Amino acid sequence: MGAGPFLPYGRQDIDADDIAAVVEALGADFLTTGPRVEAFEQAFAAAVGAPHAVACANGTAALHLSMLALGIGPGDRVAVPSVTFLATANCARFVGAEVIFTDVDPDTGLMTPATLAEALERAGPGPVRAVLPVHLRGDVADLAGLARIARQAGAVLVEDAPHALGSRADFGDGDQPVGNGRWSRAATFSFHPVKTIATGEGGMVTTADADVAARLRRLRSHGMERTPGADPWLYEMREPGFNYRLPDILCALGQSQLKRLPAFATRRRALAARYADALAPLAPHVRLATTPGWSRPVLHLLTVLIDFEALGRGRRPVVEALAAEGIGTQVHYIPVHAQPYYVGRYGPLDLPGAAAWYRRCLSLPLFPAMADADVDRVVAALSRALGLD
Ligand SMILES: *Cc1c(COP(=O)(O)O)cnc(C)c1O
Repeated sequence: MGAGPFLPYGRQDIDADDIAAVVEALGADFLTTGPRVEAFEQAFAAAVGAPHAVACANGTAALHLSMLALGIGPGDRVAVPSVTFLATANCARFVGAEVIFTDVDPDTGLMTPATLAEALERAGPGPVRAVLPVHLRGDVADLAGLARIARQAGAVLVEDAPHALGSRADFGDGDQPVGNGRWSRAATFSFHPVKTIATGEGGMVTTADADVAARLRRLRSHGMERTPGADPWLYEMREPGFNYRLPDILCALGQSQLKRLPAFATRRRALAARYADALAPLAPHVRLATTPGWSRPVLHLLTVLIDFEALGRGRRPVVEALAAEGIGTQVHYIPVHAQPYYVGRYGPLDLPGAAAWYRRCLSLPLFPAMADADVDRVVAALSRALGLD
């Protein structure tokens, strides 16, 4: 059917060096906790400018560990944007805390100081321990503004940053990489195959706080601690943890992928620029999601906002017409506050920014192996599907 191979909305890019790194790890002494774990952590910390990086099983485990390491639990509340993946909200529930859903800006999809302030006001008095901005698509949320409001509420920031590996932002004190610990207590990443680097399953937490890093390491492996110089068999547990380790095999892949991050970032930026040019004639009914002035993203998702109502088209026929031409799309995301579990727990919520975002959003293919001509093919098919050709 399509004019070329199927284009998913995102996919991993594994080359011969990546494969060689995994094969080498398979022949080494440790398949689980070996030297490649620390090597990957150190390389990752260096890549995002963070003092500490702790590898773990996946991005959801990274969020769960962050909640545990910050001591968040029953009676606490955590503010989360409604437009995100389920795990951002669920991690609060894993530890028995309650979720405060914030609205998002309808054009960026991001939590803002105004939507955070509104949500805290709506939630009323009571402890708010953490605010979890999500750098949706790779654009950086207003960390400076959010940090100010979080501080007033007595909360820390935890960035859920799986979309933003390689993204940077300037809040008036210089251009800084996401995850370096400048604005937040911790930042979480995922290496799911659609993310910017892939290990299959995999995650990371970065932090500038040595105590948080130590607690993350303990909790990642059952809460076990060994004291240097103690009896060689001895370990102690002061609090129960999990098995959230990332195996040596996958850390080998992660380290190899991380070496390719600069090239991935360059390619993603070039593809995004080409999309911007190609989509310009479809305005105002089709627009790229807005990049805030401080954000220098490496986009994970290429999300367009389509005024389906003005065009008299439904999203589903457009998605199906693109699929018939071999073009994959995805909706990022169904607002989490509207999930049956959360409606059951907190009742219905009216978040107009999230609703406006959800009505219009569609993520188009974006991954490093795409050719320039693939972008043109996607935009031409989208124009046809919307009757804009
Ligand atoms: C992918 C993702 C997660 C979860 O990561 P997994 O590795 O799939 O567990 C959490 N939050 C956001 C925003 C994500 O995109």
